[in-house]
Amino acid sequence: LPLVRCEDAARTYGRGPGAVVAVHGLTCAVPPGARVCVVGPSGSGKSTLLHLMAGLDRPTTGRVSHPGLGGESAEGLARHIGVVFQGPSLLPPLTAAENVALPLRIDGVPEDEVASRTGAALVRLGLESLAGRLPDELSAGQAQRVAVARVLARGPALVLADEPTGQLDRATGRQVLAVLLTAAAELGAAVLVTTHDPLVARALDIRWYMADGRLVQPGGRTDTRAGT
Ligand code: ADP
Ligand code: ADP
Repeated sequence: LPLVRCEDAARTYGRGPGAVVAVHGLTCAVPPGARVCVVGPSGSGKSTLLHLMAGLDRPTTGRVSHPGLGGESAEGLARHIGVVFQGPSLLPPLTAAENVALPLRIDGVPEDEVASRTGAALVRLGLESLAGRLPDELSAGQAQRVAVARVLARGPALVLADEPTGQLDRATGRQVLAVLLTAAAELGAAVLVTTHDPLVARALDIRWYMADGRLVQPGGRTDTRAGT
């Protein structure tokens, strides 16, 4: 079963003549373990698609479901879907390790397991020597790796990353993406990454192209059933 499925899902902001159709009826699905890249220019609807898939937003028309993720409740989704955003998202007063541990504590994970899962996630992302650093004391690439560790520590089935390398230089961005993909593969998690950078797109097996709120084939034809 797909982890997430969009059936003719559209999202419109506002009403009347000023309404903006962020995405037209999108039909697509992400199977377990898949590595999908959503490529398209700024404003083409990539973030909107990701927010719909994450359950952070609801379609105006059509349907978004998570057949492979059991429950449909918001808490259920949050346990199975990890979201990585573009910008810095770490809590400034907490160390890297505390940032990774916090969501586990909120989930009610026992303290000894919090410690082992936090440690394992930091090692997986090559951050063990930086565990005690505050976000201020990390480079942008290191901070983004901590954000990835924080998501992976919860053991998600699906990682949704919205322009995760958008604020990093090319080399750092590629490195962060590589460790994200490797770590997700080790955990068996599916990954969907949005990007406007064709180089980033090349690192992923499945590429969906977006233009003007629609999924399109590389040649320009509308792709009506991406991944389904
Ligand atoms: P991308 O991620 O590809 O840059 P977005 O999904 O952010 O694209 O945006 C798609 C379109 O929807 C753009 O025209 C954008 O301006 C518009 N849009 C996105 N979010 C909002 C919002 N909250 N209110 C109004 N328009 C929005
Ligand atoms: P991205 O290109 O990475 O999606 P944007 O700068 O387009 O980033 O959007 C950043 C935030 O602003 C998003 O939460 C998006 O929903 C919102 N947004 C984008 N366009 C508009 C808009 N025209 N009006 C209101 N909010 C918007």
